[in-house]
Amino acid sequence: MSGKLPFGAASGGSDRKPSRAAAPLAGATSAAVAASPSGAGSNNELAALFECPVCYDYVLPPILQCQSGHLVCSSCRSKLTCCPTCRGTLGNIRNLAMEKVATTVMFPCKYVSSGCSVLLLHTEKANHEEACECRPYQCPCPGASCKWQGSLDQVMNHLTMAHKSITTLQGEDIVFLATDINLPGAVDWVMMQSCYNHHFMLVLEKQEKYDGHQQFFAIVQLIGSRKQAESFAYRLELNGHRRRLTWEATPRSIHEGVSSAILKSDCLVFDTSIAQLFADNGNLGINVTISMC
Ligand SMILES: [Zn+2]
Ligand SMILES: [Zn+2]
Ligand SMILES: [Zn+2]
Ligand SMILES: [Zn+2]
Repeated sequence: MSGKLPFGAASGGSDRKPSRAAAPLAGATSAAVAASPSGAGSNNELAALFECPVCYDYVLPPILQCQSGHLVCSSCRSKLTCCPTCRGTLGNIRNLAMEKVATTVMFPCKYVSSGCSVLLLHTEKANHEEACECRPYQCPCPGASCKWQGSLDQVMNHLTMAHKSITTLQGEDIVFLATDINLPGAVDWVMMQSCYNHHFMLVLEKQEKYDGHQQFFAIVQLIGSRKQAESFAYRLELNGHRRRLTWEATPRSIHEGVSSAILKSDCLVFDTSIAQLFADNGNLGINVTISMC
């Protein structure tokens, strides 16, 4: 009946790791190393030329220089009134030669200090860093109130210490009971579900995407990486009064978070009238089933 899983949320393909440039052979003379334009040494030296003098991130195209030719990255530039190197005017001078060179350089991922060893073309950098498993995890609680971030193995500890009000149910098949769904305004209901030796966070969010029209968004995220999330599926089901509404999908990873999925309605979405059809005394029960696939 429920048909195929809507796998639309899966991101395209696995991380493409560009092959690293070979390191210079041990014992090679310095002349031989310098003569090899594709060696790791020269790539790293080139990449270093693009370092922003303020934040040490890379200055990437479009590259603008000060009147004396100094570079600064675009995010620092927007906060500066003069060149950090020579105090001269920043101006709007493009450096097309550096932009051309930038297209040939393999830049390290910005999470290199957290253990990522990937080198990338600047055009691939932002996409990789967004999905990079070495990127710190943020607090998975919906809403932007908690600013905590840390590694994956610290997340559960953070949740139990800082978000004590979140209850946990054990088992792969549970009922997520949201109480007082008629509360006005934007409201989040959150619960944890533990099964298959993993922890899942269930989120029901009430939002007004446009004036006067409130909608509910229900979604499940795994306290784990995207790769781990791919081996699970979740089903949300509203049941009652001879009606049934079902949604099945791959859980999000808390690395991606739920807000972008909610924005795209890539979750169980229903409006207040449908909520009323299934609610009992202002309380809504959502059947949540997690399975391995
Ligand atoms: Zn900078
Ligand atoms: Zn300058
Ligand atoms: Zn990375
Ligand atoms: Zn938190």
